Amino acid sequence: MNKDFFLTNNLTNKKEKFIPINKHKIGMYVCGPTVYDDPHIGNARPLVIFDILFKVLKCKYGKDSVNYVRNITDVDDKIIKSAQEKKISISVLTKDIIKSFNDDCKFLNCDTPSEQPRATNHIDLMIKMVSELIAKGFAYESNNHIYFQVNKFNDYGKLSNKKIEDLIAGSRVEVSKNKKKPEDFVLWKPSINDEPFWESPWGKGRPGWHLECSAMSKFFLGKEFDIHGGGIDLLFPHHENEIAQSRCANDTKIFANYWVHNAFITMSNEKMAKSRGNILKIKDFRDKVNGQILRFALMSTHYKQPLDWNEKLLNNCKDTLEKWYSVYLPFKNVSKISDDMLLPLYDDLNTPGYIANLHKLFEKANSGDDNDKKMFVSACNFIGILNETKKGWLDLKTKKSLISEKDILKKIELRNKARESKDYKEADKVRDELLEKGVLIEDKDGKTSWKIK
Ligand SMILES: [Zn+2]
Repeated sequence: MNKDFFLTNNLTNKKEKFIPINKHKIGMYVCGPTVYDDPHIGNARPLVIFDILFKVLKCKYGKDSVNYVRNITDVDDKIIKSAQEKKISISVLTKDIIKSFNDDCKFLNCDTPSEQPRATNHIDLMIKMVSELIAKGFAYESNNHIYFQVNKFNDYGKLSNKKIEDLIAGSRVEVSKNKKKPEDFVLWKPSINDEPFWESPWGKGRPGWHLECSAMSKFFLGKEFDIHGGGIDLLFPHHENEIAQSRCANDTKIFANYWVHNAFITMSNEKMAKSRGNILKIKDFRDKVNGQILRFALMSTHYKQPLDWNEKLLNNCKDTLEKWYSVYLPFKNVSKISDDMLLPLYDDLNTPGYIANLHKLFEKANSGDDNDKKMFVSACNFIGILNETKKGWLDLKTKKSLISEKDILKKIELRNKARESKDYKEADKVRDELLEKGVLIEDKDGKTSWKIK
């Protein structure tokens, strides 16, 4: 599509036309999970939103033109604490959670990013970056810790629109007697007791959390790249600190050109918090609902708006998908999606606008021919829904498959032929056979539909 693509850039607080550095090699970095606990529904939102961004970029620039890097934080205070609480080793914990995370991504029908680097595989790059920051005078050593000196970087606070004085007044900074200034943040810290450690010029230690994204984005995407994304909670201090580290170590005027953040999820209008006990894990949905319902719910609100998660939302999404599956037909080749259809997504990933277009396309498919149905299913597939066959969609209700979708359709055809030749005995026999296998058929307006009872 030749239409321009627009994104809200939080660095400038404006919706801007997206102009890639190199349209054949678009770089996108999204902060991935810290693998200390099974991902929850709040973690699912950026997975789906940035997956849609990945899809739109691939559609516009070509499927091999986008390098999407999403890291895995596998060394962190939360991980050390969680492993201690669970009385398991860090490697067992991180392995389990990475598996759970990958299963969730599959469940939500997300494309696999181009790269999924683990922090612990890139500690050498982080040590190198800390050394550069010290050599250039942006960082200092104090009591085996290395800190970034925030007041040496003039653009600090530009992304989050924060002034250093406000940070200190709001106590958003970690207090430590080792720091020259309260706003300075840690790049490297000593490992104590049985904490994981790596040898460094400053003794046995481990990196501060922000450092890994600066080191790994540089390794995979270069010193300057196109899009940096993540949840809005990462904007400060994480992304602000990434910018400070990267631009000072790399001597650049920019780090990423476009900063894109998805808004929060609330639970029935309450903040999601461990203390409230309202944290819903993605894996707990796996045996209850089809992943497409979650995916659809997560894209039902524009990514910049808060999304309220509640039963009604899930039920509405389920009903819509149920209705849409009534015109589902399996196709070998998908249809090309029209520019008009795609327009909302090109306008700052307006997913509700795209869904509104899908509703219109459904009406056309419902009263139209197979070609209209193919158009509709292709447009659904584009954003990762209706990718399963109708039977796959229904299987989760019955938990067992007694008959394949292909055979159901064959039987219905057989029954229709019997009815056409007025052989009602045969028609009823086929209907009863299907019923025995748990398939209920309904005739309405001259059409036969089916569902698992
Ligand atoms: Zn990050």
